[in-house]
Amino acid sequence: MAQDSYCVLVAGSGMLPEAVRFGREGVGVPEFEYTGFPSHVVFGVGSTERWQLARVIDALGAKRILLIAAEPERALADRIADALGTRIAGRFSNIRAHVPIEIARQAREAARATQADCLLCVGGGSTTGTAKAVAMESGVDIVAVPTTYAGSEVTPIWGLTENGRKTTGVDLRVLPKLVIYDPALTVSLPAELSAVSGLNALAHCAEALWTAKRNPITSLIAEEGIRALAAGLPAILADRADLDARSHALYGAWLAGHAFATAGSGIHHKICHVLGGAYDLPHAETHAVVLPYTTSLAAPQLDGVDARIVSALGGDGDSAAEAIFAFERKLGAPVSLRQLGLPESELAKAGELVAEAFAALPEPPSRPAIDALLRSAFDGAPPRSAMILA
Ligand code: NAD
Repeated sequence: MAQDSYCVLVAGSGMLPEAVRFGREGVGVPEFEYTGFPSHVVFGVGSTERWQLARVIDALGAKRILLIAAEPERALADRIADALGTRIAGRFSNIRAHVPIEIARQAREAARATQADCLLCVGGGSTTGTAKAVAMESGVDIVAVPTTYAGSEVTPIWGLTENGRKTTGVDLRVLPKLVIYDPALTVSLPAELSAVSGLNALAHCAEALWTAKRNPITSLIAEEGIRALAAGLPAILADRADLDARSHALYGAWLAGHAFATAGSGIHHKICHVLGGAYDLPHAETHAVVLPYTTSLAAPQLDGVDARIVSALGGDGDSAAEAIFAFERKLGAPVSLRQLGLPESELAKAGELVAEAFAALPEPPSRPAIDALLRSAFDGAPPRSAMILA
């Protein structure tokens, strides 16, 4: 049978209770459900050059476009939008991380004032998130031109922050109709930022291999995403302008976003969501720090997942957690929650919040297991290859 056996029972942990839904051992391809999302993707170096961009925007029939891009990406966005001439009816540049509700309201107002029939967002996940905040209310089409490896551009997931609490939801209206991936636009992304952004994508891929909604298609996509990121990220550190490396990384980011959108999220994203929301920790860096520990918890519980991750990373050994840990250190990524600014005195409270977030699981991981995971991530200690849940 294939490496990934979909009928594995998750012994006692309660993390992946729905895993038993999939397949029966020894019957070939397991039973599964797969949802594809309707977006048109154009990928390639130069795909945002004049004629290319005009060609694909023409196909959408957009006449009044609101250009959404943060101040630092303004020059980049203007250069791209130049091809669209007077069809750019307005600009919105007040972008903030995690889309505070006040910013969402401002962006919605800008779209109304310009009578926008299209939102062209150029930037990272925060910029795409701002366009999504407009689309979830108005249904206006989004054209996304991502310049980081966050992957939000191919998901129907929105996120908004109000009174310090981030809420997320799923709505097909926020899924960009058209995504243009031009690796040349990511060359300006500093090497360190490229590394952590790419590790955010790696987290989407790794978690897609163990979520309850995973299936053979999402696993293939996730595994290939890991392979592409493993090829691209170290080469970017060696030469930030290496377009071959940038192409691999952006391709990996697309696959990662796709895997995340279709396989869903699990304990890893839940923990990062809690930590990011409660302690305002930086998004991509938090994913990078936490991933080895969530992997050490989840991957060994399903046949073949450890091996798939290790092999896709081009590493040796049996443990995906250790392979990820080593890969992250090679990239010089942040190593601990302490380094990201989480006060040690907050560890117990953080454990409580994570336990609350897990409460909806039929058999949630025990509080000692959660505390052990957070302590390891706080210290940046080597992950144990198979963490036993008490
Ligand atoms: P970001 O969008 O905040 O960008 C990080 C920094 O990179 C910013 O300072 C930005 O100005 C800069 N930057 C972007 N592109 C650049 C470029 N080409 N050159 C130089 N600098 C550049 O961060 P992010 O990690 O891309 O996105 C994080 C956000 O996206 C979070 O809010 C997260 O929740 C969200 N997200 C959502 C989904 C989803 O499916 N809804 C998926 C992943 C991430």
